[in-house]
Amino acid sequence: MKTIGIAGGGQLGRMLTDAAHALGFKVVMMDPTPNAPGMQMADERIVAAYGDANATKRLAEKCDVLTFEIESVNADALEELSHNGFPVHPTPRTLAMIKDKLYQKQFLSSHGIPVAPFALPEEAETLGYPYVLKARSGGFDGRGNALVNSPEDIADAVAKLRGAPAYAEGFVHFDKELAIVAVRTAEGDIKIFPLVETIHKNHICHMVLAPAPVSTEIAQRARDLAEIVLASFEGAGVFAIEMFNVGSEVLVNEIAPRVHNSGHFSIEACHTSQFEEHIRAVAGMPLGDPSMKVPAAVMINILGERDGQAMPDGIEDAEKLPGVKVHIYGKTDTRKERKMGHITATADTLDDARSLAEHARSLVSI
Ligand code: AMP
Repeated sequence: MKTIGIAGGGQLGRMLTDAAHALGFKVVMMDPTPNAPGMQMADERIVAAYGDANATKRLAEKCDVLTFEIESVNADALEELSHNGFPVHPTPRTLAMIKDKLYQKQFLSSHGIPVAPFALPEEAETLGYPYVLKARSGGFDGRGNALVNSPEDIADAVAKLRGAPAYAEGFVHFDKELAIVAVRTAEGDIKIFPLVETIHKNHICHMVLAPAPVSTEIAQRARDLAEIVLASFEGAGVFAIEMFNVGSEVLVNEIAPRVHNSGHFSIEACHTSQFEEHIRAVAGMPLGDPSMKVPAAVMINILGERDGQAMPDGIEDAEKLPGVKVHIYGKTDTRKERKMGHITATADTLDDARSLAEHARSLVSI
């Protein structure tokens, strides 16, 4: 095994490529943008749309194993490759199921995993109000969601989703949002990263606190759920499980079949990062140790504050702070709320890590 093919070349692909190189692998990457963050680091590039079936096959011809960093890759093309014996991880069947949020919810609840009540749009009334109308696929960072407070909101919600196939989900009055990144080998060996709390602003991940400041009972419940979820999937790789904590309950919100923003802290804070674990898993290597090597870590995303050419500034000052690491993804253009980079601060307590990360963030502009 020498070359890993990655479909998708954003920041996740960039950090995966770093991890692959550190383990001695080459990376061939496919993305529509020639200088996308990951494409800048790859050893070989295929410039093509995510859905391009022929380009996906060409990618396979150039590598020993294929994986992906975005859900909008061509699951059918990957399934055909997999069917013909080419290794694709996680399996395209798992990807296809997760990609459709309604199938995903049905799959999770059929495996006994607690989720928010959900219904087809025509039966949404049975959930009561408010509910969330969600696009079944394609919407991430909350872009495919519309809140419905009363029957008068339905037309606007459908318009916001531009008529995309949707389903309805009961609104969860959660206390906290939590996430767990976990990894499995093709043989079913599972390792689980520490539970984190995720804090969103405008439906976009703003901050991640590791370990999550919750009771040991909640942390154990979340871990148990992560284990059940991972055991129910096929194929190797990292999965991220986003959850709601309501009182003493934990509900699964959604799964991503890939490395995830809620696991970026692991680069500095864990013995083995989520990116290295993913590469190890897809390359058939034994998994590393995902536990934390520092008491606490806080990650803050660096989102674009304006529209125009990116002009990263203040990074050296931020990195002078002890325990602070700044990651800039190399995107040419900044846009309001676009993920341009992130900061991880490690410290002895979550409070200290959070103050450090916030201070560092205030020094950086892009
Ligand atoms: P999602 O597209 O499911 O990842 O949702 C993005 C964000 O919207 C979540 O992180 C929550 O903050 C919020 N959200 C999603 N589903 C619900 C729900 N059923 N009830 C309340 N908030 C939700």
